[in-house]
This record gives sequence, structure tokens and C-alpha cells, in this order.
Amino acid sequence: MTASLRQVSVLGSTGSIGVSTLDVIARHPGDFAVYALAANRSVEAMLAQCLQHQPQFAVMMDEAAAQLLSDQLPTDSQTQVLQGEAGLTQVVTAPEVDSVMAAIVGAAGLPSTLAAANAGKTVLLANKESLVMGGHLLMQAVRESGARLLPIDSEHNAIFQCMPVDEQARPMRDGISKVLLTASGGPFRSWTYEQMYNATPDQACAHPNWSMGRKISVDSASLMNKGLEFIEACWIFDLTPDLVDVVVHPQSIIHSMVQYLDGSVLAQLGNPDMRTPIAYGLAWPERLVSGVAPLDLIAAARLDFEAPDESRFPCLRLAREAVAAGGTAMAVCNAANEIAVQAFLDEQLRFTDIPSIIEGVMEKVSIVEPTALNVVENADNEAREVARDLLATMTGHTPEANLA
Ligand code: NAD
Ligand code: MG
Repeated sequence: MTASLRQVSVLGSTGSIGVSTLDVIARHPGDFAVYALAANRSVEAMLAQCLQHQPQFAVMMDEAAAQLLSDQLPTDSQTQVLQGEAGLTQVVTAPEVDSVMAAIVGAAGLPSTLAAANAGKTVLLANKESLVMGGHLLMQAVRESGARLLPIDSEHNAIFQCMPVDEQARPMRDGISKVLLTASGGPFRSWTYEQMYNATPDQACAHPNWSMGRKISVDSASLMNKGLEFIEACWIFDLTPDLVDVVVHPQSIIHSMVQYLDGSVLAQLGNPDMRTPIAYGLAWPERLVSGVAPLDLIAAARLDFEAPDESRFPCLRLAREAVAAGGTAMAVCNAANEIAVQAFLDEQLRFTDIPSIIEGVMEKVSIVEPTALNVVENADNEAREVARDLLATMTGHTPEANLA
């Protein structure tokens, strides 16, 4: 690839995207070095990653986990352990760092993603919640600092690959008539409302095509993942919502498409494995071996498409409403979803009540202009409080009552 070694900080390194990122990096030791790793509290996984990748820094959000990691690292280790948000800021803004993989899950990733953008880094954005929540701030930071934003979410990476971009990786959308965001439909694509009413967390996390963390897996089952991606597409590609259509494509082979005014439709295809978009983000504008098997179209045999069913999957509509409302509405929608998903994973909420919580919160929390990070964080906090209050009242609902 390039002559110089690129220094990468991997945030969320012990998660699904983090592990895939380190897998791609390990295939190219002459091209990339791991500058820092960061995770919440999984000490065992972090220790193994430090021993293999020898980063200069390892950041643990949790204080006790940071102490434990320090104690367990060999005395001659060159890895220095940092803790908390200050540690994250340090490893994304350090002058040595070229690229930051933003793969923390949820709103917790916003401050570090924003710091990386403000520092003018190449930001490999997997953490879609940070863009949904703080899109105004993040896109402004990218514009003003000269940072590069490379989308890692497979759909947005596909769109990025199907659009001309300038040397700063800024998409040039002249001539585009539509962006077609594909959705697998998730594990409940053909389930009835009554079946979804009784769905367990393990059923929701059993995605037919992708292996992912539990939060995004539940989002995929509710189609809120597609709702968040709809918002993400509007921000990254500077599109008005009418230019983005969602198409259900159960095989997850086409990762999204761009339709042009002349009738051309460009698509990016590949096996559903996040190492493809990760390798593209790491090497852009070049290409890297990623470890992903070549696509066998004869074995795949067919590519199907259908319209999303918003009556069974209201989250898609709620995300659209959040975009239309603008301001902090998207942060509110995202925060309510995070609380509802966690409650479902903790078996305190029915799967079919996830959209009811989000809708209830969006009705109650007022929308303001997201002028600064603290304004967005206040909206996020308020939405979480209202969501927790609503959760407490959500008992004894029947499927009929919810459908009405
Ligand atoms: P995951 O749950 O597998 O991993 C999350 C990582 O974030 C872990 O390393 C965890 O330690 C860390 N983390 C959690 N809370 C933290 C905090 N408060 N501070 C610092 N670190 C924290 O999640 P994932 O599936 O890898 O997803 C990560 C992000 O990438 C999400 O935003 C998700 O929407 C996005 N994404 C994932 C996929 C996928 O295939 N998994 C695809 C597209 C986008
Ligand atoms: Mg995606």
C-alpha cells in the first residue's frame, strides 16, 4: 500500500467491529500500526489484544477495569493504560494518529468521535448513533477541520463506493436521483405482530446474515437500525429525506445503491462481512486484502427485493419523523431507542413496545437547535429520563392495544 505506516486508534476494540478491524490490520503489518485500543470494561479481551497488537495506549472507560488491566499487563509492556473520557480524547487527538476507528456502541461514542473530527483525523465511522445524535456538530467539525469521514456502516460504505468523491473524501452528489438503502429485514421480516410480541432477546439477536453486537442486532430486528441509517445517510451524503428510499433485500448481498438521473443504478455487492467496508475505510482510496471470501453469485442464485412494512416495523416511520422535526429530535429518538433496547435485552420490555417508548418520548420532549455538544447531551439525558418513566408505566399491554 503506502510507504509510511499508518497509526490507528481503535475505539470499541473488543466489540464486533473492533475485532474485525484488528483482524484486517493484522493482515497488513507493514501498512498499519495500532496506536491505541479502547473499550468499556472487558479486561480479559483487552489484555489479549494488547499482547497481540502492542499499542502505545489502552483506554478503559471503567476505572476498576483500567486498574485491573494495569495490574495484569506484563511489567515490561510498552502499553500505557489510560482511563475514561480524557483517555479517549488523548488517543484520538494525538498528533501521531492518522485514523480513528469510531466503533463504540451508542451515544457514548459521540464525544470521542467529535474530538477525532475536530482534530482533523481520518474518522472511520461505525458508531452511527453519534452521527444520528450530533449530526450537525459532527458534520460541521469535519468541514471546518479538514477531517475525512469514511463511512464504515456497510450501506453507507456501499453508497460511498458508488458516488464520486473529492480528495477529502467528500461525496459529490451531482446527478443523483435517489439513494437506495438496502435492509435485510432482520430476523423478524416474515413474523406476525403476535409472534414479535413474544420475541425473546436471543431470537432478536439471531440475525440471518450478519454477526453483530446485541444492541445493533435488536435495532436490525425492529428496523430502527434502518431508521438510524436513514438519518445517517442524510447527514453523510447531505441528502434531503425524499432522496433516500429503503428497499428490503433479504440476501444482504447488495449493500446499497445509487440511482442517477440518466437511469443508471450503481450497486456495491459482496458477502455480508464487515471486514470489506473496514478494509475500504483503512486503505481509502486504495484497496486491501480483507480476508473476506469472494462473492459466489452462482451459489447465491437470486437477489430479491420488497418494500418495508412500516405497520409491523413502526421504528422506520419514527426515524423519518425525527428527521422531519430536525434539531435535537434525532438525539431524542436515538436516546429513547437505547433505553428501550436495553430494557428489552434485560427482559423488562416486550419487543413490540420498543416503538411505543420511542414514540412516547418523542411526543413529550421538546426540540431545540443543537448548537453545542452540551445542548445535544441535555436532550439525550432528558429523553432517557422520560423513557425510564414511560418504561415504569408499560405493563399489562395487550397486542391489540398496541396495534391501535
Ligand atoms: P459491540 O457491542 O460488539 O461492541 C461495542 C464496543 O464498544 C465494545 O468494545 C465495548 O467495550 C465498547 N463500549 C461500550 N460502551 C462504551 C463506553 N461507554 N465507552 C467506551 N467504550 C464502550 O458493538 P458493535 O456491533 O461492534 O457495534 C459498534 C458500533 O458500530 C455501533 O454503533 C453499531 O451501530 C455500529 N455498527 C456495527 C456493525 C456490526 O456489524 N457489528 C455494522 C455497522 C455499524
Ligand atoms: Mg448497516
